[in-house]
Amino acid sequence: MSNPAPLQATCLCRTSTIQIPTTLPLTAHVCHCTTCRTSHGTLFAMHTDLETLPFSESSPPSTFRIYQSSANSGKAYFCSTCGTYMFASYFYMREGSRHEGFCVSTGCVSLSDSYKSENPTTKLEDVLSVDFHCIIKDTIDGGASPWAGDWSKETQVQFHGNWEEPPMPSQEDAEELGRKHVYPTGCKELDGWCRCQSVKVRITRDDEARKYKTALCVCDSCRLATGTDVVAYTWMPRDNAFFVTKSKDGEEEVKEWPAVWDDEAKKKFGNMIIYESTPGKVVWGACGTCGARVFYQRYGKKVGDGKDLVEPLTALFGADDTQGIMHLNFLDWTVAEDGIYWAEDAENAGRAGIMTMNVNEMYQKWVKGLKDRA
Ligand SMILES: [Zn+2]
Ligand SMILES: [Zn+2]
Ligand SMILES: [Zn+2]
Ligand SMILES: [Zn+2]
Repeated sequence: MSNPAPLQATCLCRTSTIQIPTTLPLTAHVCHCTTCRTSHGTLFAMHTDLETLPFSESSPPSTFRIYQSSANSGKAYFCSTCGTYMFASYFYMREGSRHEGFCVSTGCVSLSDSYKSENPTTKLEDVLSVDFHCIIKDTIDGGASPWAGDWSKETQVQFHGNWEEPPMPSQEDAEELGRKHVYPTGCKELDGWCRCQSVKVRITRDDEARKYKTALCVCDSCRLATGTDVVAYTWMPRDNAFFVTKSKDGEEEVKEWPAVWDDEAKKKFGNMIIYESTPGKVVWGACGTCGARVFYQRYGKKVGDGKDLVEPLTALFGADDTQGIMHLNFLDWTVAEDGIYWAEDAENAGRAGIMTMNVNEMYQKWVKGLKDRA
């Protein structure tokens, strides 16, 4: 018997759980464009196209907040409680006419409970796979493409799209590009911002040789927080991380990163969605206007030197596209002893085969290559 809603989409706080009527199998595409990166806070977005949204566009679920960059553009639907960017509509041209497309963030998708009870041995990775990567050129330096693509599959090596796309750079080429398009040497600040640019993060270093550790996590929380299976963070002392806000007359103000997101701190950053996934312990921040995931913070966690740790999402840096996004001279891309963090979560969710398994292997090779050639 076929199930009318074989999939569901869930956000981090699970208030916005939506059943998705569709037919399986489905595919996801991986988009490296600036809009996607700064919408999700991830190095690339994973989107699964749908024939239509699983709710009425004229009366979407009240748990959503909507972002539309201009009156003629598509809409992004994100959870108003936790900020997870879940659905989007967009417009594209085909044969001279304008069409509307719809998608769900692949990281939010799982098999529905009713589908699982009818198909107890089916895993998500059996019915959902990545079919192409696109708009890598926006990253300037290749971004995550050297390790995000599945080189073992012919279709995924092509990295095609409906637009002109240069071939995917090899690991060495991407590294070369990364070195060419770096943040200016000697710079002591690195800025990042969300899609609508109302949240800006600045990280600083006193010593220009200092690099901040950056790693990949594929745990369920990170995935549900961003809608993407693979998430990169930068581990920072709070003393070196700031928010830059703009006053009504356009004046920039640099604000300290709050130690605790109490009511006073929330008031200072009124535009942000602050969600405590573990009350008093773990907090997630997102832009309240566009829904971009901005940071993760664990109260009481320290960096090596005893200072408070904060974790801005790495993909926000270099978002203006005048430089590459990997910032090899500012970020120290690292792996844990056994690879990327929380690969077992993807395994347990039956989705490791969609992307995580491959990324785990390729990313470790990429990091080793960087270190070997340093
Ligand atoms: Zn939510
Ligand atoms: Zn995109
Ligand atoms: Zn924003
Ligand atoms: Zn995680």
